[in-house]
Amino acid sequence: MAGSILKQDPWFSDIIEKLKSDIKAKSELKCEHVNEFDPFENRSLREDGIGLPTLAKDKHPKISNGSVLIEMGCTKSQGRYLKAKEQIKAGDVLILEKPYTAVLVPENKNTHCSHCFELLEEDVMSCTVCKKVKYCSVSCKLDAWKCYHKHECSLEPLLEMLELSSHLALRLLLVSGLKTLRDFVHSRGGCADLLCSDEIPGCTTDGLYSGDYSCVHNLVTNTDLQPTAALVSFALDAACITEIAFGHVYGDHSSQSESRNGTNDSSNFALTKENLGCLLLHHMQQMPCNIHAVTAIVSVNEQAGVWSKEQRRIAAGIYPTASLMNHACDPDVIVSFIGRTLVVRATHNIQPGEEIAHCYGPSASRMSREVRQSLLQKQYFFICNCSACKSDKDLEEQYIFDASYICPKCSSVVKVSRENDKNMGKCQNAKCGYVNDFSFEVDVVKNAQKLFGLAVASLEQGQGVKCLETLKECFKKRQNVLQRYDKDVAETHDALARCNASLGDFRQAAFHCEQSTESVRRRFGSESVEYAHELHKLAQLLFNGKLTNKALTVIESGIRLLTIHYGAKYADVEELQNMRKTLRNFMKGKT
Ligand SMILES: [Zn+2]
Ligand SMILES: [Zn+2]
Ligand SMILES: [Zn+2]
Ligand SMILES: [Zn+2]
Repeated sequence: MAGSILKQDPWFSDIIEKLKSDIKAKSELKCEHVNEFDPFENRSLREDGIGLPTLAKDKHPKISNGSVLIEMGCTKSQGRYLKAKEQIKAGDVLILEKPYTAVLVPENKNTHCSHCFELLEEDVMSCTVCKKVKYCSVSCKLDAWKCYHKHECSLEPLLEMLELSSHLALRLLLVSGLKTLRDFVHSRGGCADLLCSDEIPGCTTDGLYSGDYSCVHNLVTNTDLQPTAALVSFALDAACITEIAFGHVYGDHSSQSESRNGTNDSSNFALTKENLGCLLLHHMQQMPCNIHAVTAIVSVNEQAGVWSKEQRRIAAGIYPTASLMNHACDPDVIVSFIGRTLVVRATHNIQPGEEIAHCYGPSASRMSREVRQSLLQKQYFFICNCSACKSDKDLEEQYIFDASYICPKCSSVVKVSRENDKNMGKCQNAKCGYVNDFSFEVDVVKNAQKLFGLAVASLEQGQGVKCLETLKECFKKRQNVLQRYDKDVAETHDALARCNASLGDFRQAAFHCEQSTESVRRRFGSESVEYAHELHKLAQLLFNGKLTNKALTVIESGIRLLTIHYGAKYADVEELQNMRKTLRNFMKGKT
């Protein structure tokens, strides 16, 4: 319906005609250039799969990309989910999966290969035709061209207007190819809707979950639960894309151009533009709940060897096997990426029969239960009932997320809230019960925040000494009114570590880093990835400060924890191993 409205309204149809002719012009340009496109350009091919870990024990015979240690379950309340079939140990690789399809986030288009998402090095190559898309190697360029870019290349005027998720839905159809889509729709009697069957959705009759198009088609849409406004907007987008893109990509009689020999029934079945539009709409509805952010850990705020690690979104992809996992706010696994390959590792031991859950984003170590529950319900339409959400630990958690003041009577945590224009502080220790106006303390914290801003600015301008003075003043203020492991206090320690390192005082830097590392351990837990990155930072400072024995202890913990989260081949693990070797040689030299 949306499609026919678009076509009939003169204003809309003008826009659509304009876009169509822009695209046609681009595609004619493409024909001129396509002969220049030399697949045998003399460049090195980047091999796929280098540096990838291996699945724990063995490949699963039925779950594609999974280890034999896992199995699939399906109940009405949980939907499909993964559980442990055998004993799983911390660090075991449970899933190793390339995306069914993925799209680079536009802001990374000049820094990352648009096909494999690796960082671009010096010998960047662009698409020979549009010159807009960048690749790391010939193999990426060829592969991208073959799978989707030969269509997308001239669709650029349309793609520029699309949300990332709509682009991903379109690319999903392009990489699947007309034949797959036609066979799929045909096998469902011409209806692109989900068929209900007794089997686990997405599995073949003999229980195989192959990660192919039918698995992708079976990912949840939550159509009944999505807000009407979202559904209307999906429908309009789908109609618009169908009108502009599919005629261009597949021609007006899409399936007739394909060869047929009459032996297969589906070859006489023609896929209409409407069929394709329905498939697109179906996939667009899946996107909010099934997109995986492809991330990389990057160093930020680097100063003389001290940095913070941050997860950055590089691309968005569809990973049908990883999508089988349900959510928990205190997950059992960590998901990381090597290029575009998704790696799922257990972060603790899991007993046979126990569910394997990962975190969709709202994590108990970063958000209060209230915030998590509301985010999950809004995007994924369920009320989380994970162990973190059921436990009473949450009250305690909140003190960490909000500013935690010191009670002058008993030193416990005071929580401050605005009441009738006053900052009312209440001691959380039930036996103490101290209540008072904390406006003075709140002002101290505000002033300290200003000082912190000034200090960071002077550090960035290379004025280390000035920075150190300001930070010390800031620290004094915060320490007077805030708890020892409050996050503002931890942030000051972290900055003091960076500042001291920039001045060459690694011992003092290590002292402060130790404090912020302990805060991170308390906040995120002693097995967390956040703590692992802090240990790496601390090890570096202890190493530079020649605090050998302490450095060796921290290096051991860092190696163990980083290996659990990222595997033994992770660059940071190798760096720590080298540090350990150097230190051991140094100690041998001394005795
Ligand atoms: Zn590449
Ligand atoms: Zn191109
Ligand atoms: Zn939860
Ligand atoms: Zn108190």
